[in-house]
Amino acid sequence: MVKIEKKVKRVHCTECGYKMPLSYASDAECKGVFAICKGRNCRRPFEIRIENGKQINTKEKTVR
Ligand SMILES: [Zn+2]
Repeated sequence: MVKIEKKVKRVHCTECGYKMPLSYASDAECKGVFAICKGRNCRRPFEIRIENGKQINTKEKTVR
C-alpha cells in the first residue's frame, strides 16, 4: 500500500483573512461552496473558490 500525502493549504476568509479550520489540496477545484467565517469580528458568509489549487479572493457580495 502506497500512502499518498497531498500538500494541503488552509482556506482563508476572503473578508478578513481568518484562517479557517478547512484545508484544500494542491490540485483542488472548488466554487459555489460557502462557509461562515469564524473570525471574532467577522462571521460573514463567504464563497470558497479554489482554482487549480489556489484560493481566489472573491469580493462579490454574498446575500444574507
Ligand atoms: Zn472573516
